[in-house]
Amino acid sequence: MARVISDECVSCGSCESECPVGAIAEGDGKYVIDADACVDCGACESACPTGAISAE
Ligand code: SF4
Repeated sequence: MARVISDECVSCGSCESECPVGAIAEGDGKYVIDADACVDCGACESACPTGAISAE
């Protein structure tokens, strides 16, 4: 399981520093989560102002 970032992402970058395993990076137009690196801890979800991060 991994979290995913939807198109609600406004590329604010708030989530990136919250991830303990460095799974979040800026992508093309929105941030993306590396599903192989994500340990599904949920730390990033509350950091997102638009609610774009959810469980897959
Ligand atoms: Fe990183 Fe945890 Fe968010 Fe996965 S759920 S991207 S491990 S902060």
